[in-house]
Amino acid sequence: MALKQISLAALLALGVHSGALAQSLDDLKNDKNTPGDILTYGMGYDLTRHSALKQINTDTVKNLRPVWTYSLADTRGQESFPLVHDGVMYVTTHNSTVALDALTGKQIWKQVIEYPAETPRVACCGIVNRGAAIFNGKIYRTTLDAYVIALDAKTGKEVWRTNSIDFKTGYSMTVAPIIADGVLITGISGGEYGIRGYIEGYDPENGKRLWRTYTVPAPGEPGSETWKDGGDAWKRGGGPTWLTGSYDPDLNTVYWGTGNAASWNAGLRPGDNLYTSSILALEPKTGKIKWHYQTSPNDPFDHDGTNELILTELDGKKVVMQASRNGFFYVLDRTNGTLIAANKFVDNVNWANKIDMGTGRPDVTEITTKARSGEEVVYWPSAFGGKNWSPMAYNPDMKIAFANTLNIGMKYKAVEPQYRPGVFYFGAEFAWEWPKGARGSLRAIDPMTGKMKWQAESDIPRMAAVLSTAGGLVFTGTQTGEFEAFNSENGSKVWEYNTGSGIVGQPVTWEKDGKQYVTILSGSGAVYVLFSGDERLAKTPAGGSVWTFALGD
Ligand code: CA
Ligand code: CA
Repeated sequence: MALKQISLAALLALGVHSGALAQSLDDLKNDKNTPGDILTYGMGYDLTRHSALKQINTDTVKNLRPVWTYSLADTRGQESFPLVHDGVMYVTTHNSTVALDALTGKQIWKQVIEYPAETPRVACCGIVNRGAAIFNGKIYRTTLDAYVIALDAKTGKEVWRTNSIDFKTGYSMTVAPIIADGVLITGISGGEYGIRGYIEGYDPENGKRLWRTYTVPAPGEPGSETWKDGGDAWKRGGGPTWLTGSYDPDLNTVYWGTGNAASWNAGLRPGDNLYTSSILALEPKTGKIKWHYQTSPNDPFDHDGTNELILTELDGKKVVMQASRNGFFYVLDRTNGTLIAANKFVDNVNWANKIDMGTGRPDVTEITTKARSGEEVVYWPSAFGGKNWSPMAYNPDMKIAFANTLNIGMKYKAVEPQYRPGVFYFGAEFAWEWPKGARGSLRAIDPMTGKMKWQAESDIPRMAAVLSTAGGLVFTGTQTGEFEAFNSENGSKVWEYNTGSGIVGQPVTWEKDGKQYVTILSGSGAVYVLFSGDERLAKTPAGGSVWTFALGD
């Protein structure tokens, strides 16, 4: 007790006002209703990325102008979700965390992360970081060499650092953590390196690990009966958890997606391979799995189930929904995991005919059975997915999701994988199959039917996240650098601004003193640039920066 009094007195003596101690659990819970700040990844625990702000709207957006820009001094792809609290913006890159004056972009502090030079070798698909969490005066983030760290929000000084696992065995961390029920929750990357995935909970005060829940069970554990190889496939079974989950405080449940099973050679791991390519409902204090739903059992196709899990109400039911890499849009009752709807949201899906509403399982085609038995196939959607990682937005008033979808196939043949720690462990040979039409389109999608209300195609596919606003707008960006706004009712483009590098980041909106702002990171790179071989993007310069816009006169 005496210690507590001294530390509080010391804080007051240092002139730390109560704002520094804000970001309580209630503040996080109410984040979506307080447009003056952004305290949670996805602009609310429900990950809807929908804002009630409407100063910037279909009429006024023509006057949207840059207010400031800040150089991140980094040439990697910029995927970070910006947080805003008390007039300060927090942004991450793969090797730095910065605090900026949200109104001017002036740097308040910058904390540089040093990691071993060989670290990027184990980071598939781009050397990125997807953002931070904020709670009780601290900023939390993960690092490429698999540390979870806490920084003082005022100074950037490191408060604690905990190693999750040895990165040399193929693990890395790029995920934005969340705070749920007072626990700091993180996921892990490394799916294509023969890792065994997990989700972890940490004590945000001191970095002590509270729990780890593996997404691939060990022999004898629940779910292990779905690994029928009789060997040790489970040890390198995949199921990474590289994107941020959502949280329902009323049900006190965290929803987290898991990645594909490894290797891609599904014939070597007969069975459903739980809990890979699944949606998990977890208890935040313990990591206990309450229920699971698997989107792609015994997946050969790199159809990660990691995509964002949006929480809303449909037909009077509390639902969780996901536009999966595998091309189906899933809606589940989030109280118990019962499937409500599962429909194709992209045009070309040939690995499954439909999802059986009775069993909840995919009705797979011969493309899938041939792939599992080692025959060469061409499957759609490709390993890029019907949608890649970049999160969609959901407008609860329109009951419409806005997603950057992909139209790319893949020639594929399973081969015997070679496991070496920290080296790619694909177990397949593959090449892209390009479509006759556009490779991507921003689509307005009805979650219950998968049908689109409108689309805005782009042959160089958009790989950015989407933001929806009550101003009737949808914001996203192109890989050639245009930050764009669309009319959410009809998909007509109403504004764009070139940011100088490609956009693969996450737009957000916030307000200060009665003025609405929109912020996006620009910075070309990451999975499509690195893996597609699309030479059209060779002309787009690299170079990360933060852009903030508001209405001009
Ligand atoms: Ca807020
Ligand atoms: Ca994967």
